[in-house]
Amino acid sequence: MSQGLLLGSAGSQRHGVRGDTVKTVEAPPEMHELMEAIEAKYEEIFKTKLKFKPEESRIKLAGKNVMFIGLRAIAIDLKDELDSVLGEAGRNLLIYRLGQSFGRSEAERILPQMGLDELPARIAAGPIWAAYSGFARIRFLPGSVLEPNENYFLLYEYPNNFEAELWKKEGRTATEPLCYFNAGYSSGWCSVAAGLELEAEEILCEAKGDKACRFIMFPASRRMEYMERLDEFGNM
Ligand SMILES: [Zn+2]
Repeated sequence: MSQGLLLGSAGSQRHGVRGDTVKTVEAPPEMHELMEAIEAKYEEIFKTKLKFKPEESRIKLAGKNVMFIGLRAIAIDLKDELDSVLGEAGRNLLIYRLGQSFGRSEAERILPQMGLDELPARIAAGPIWAAYSGFARIRFLPGSVLEPNENYFLLYEYPNNFEAELWKKEGRTATEPLCYFNAGYSSGWCSVAAGLELEAEEILCEAKGDKACRFIMFPASRRMEYMERLDEFGNM
């Protein structure tokens, strides 16, 4: 696997620059060319390898069976069901692990079809896939370190995150971040992409009034260290 990539540098714009042709992800300029190439690959897959076969009760995408699920099922209904059985802490943990399982599974299914060897490309393929899958837009923030080792660190935001958006649409409020599905999904994908055990933590959340849902992702072995720095990343 590749050498890494440090995103952004002194003087780079706070939220990166959206390219003229990169349409799915917001990222520092050094990632634009790479992302355009990945978008083109996904476009080709959806154009040529998506087959609806209702007579077989199947949808095939690149030969694999997929299904449509309404976003509300995860953002509201599943959470309410788990809340009633497990309480809030149990619900959050289970949703996180569910998202992580989905992210891992999708990365294991998609990445082999993409022919991407370099770590930055394998990581970037996740948020772009999330956009094509219809559930997340991701903004990479400067300061991320895309290296396949203990230095790995990702700082990223989800503008208009479906979990927070639907929660608010229900007239609900939150005092703590609640987007555990997306935190889990992103860490699951990136764990497979990087060959590392990674964890993600949401530090700002639109559901509790923050301007975006912001996450950090780090090696699981460094969790204690990063948990002590949450305010630092939240105030950047
Ligand atoms: Zn959130």
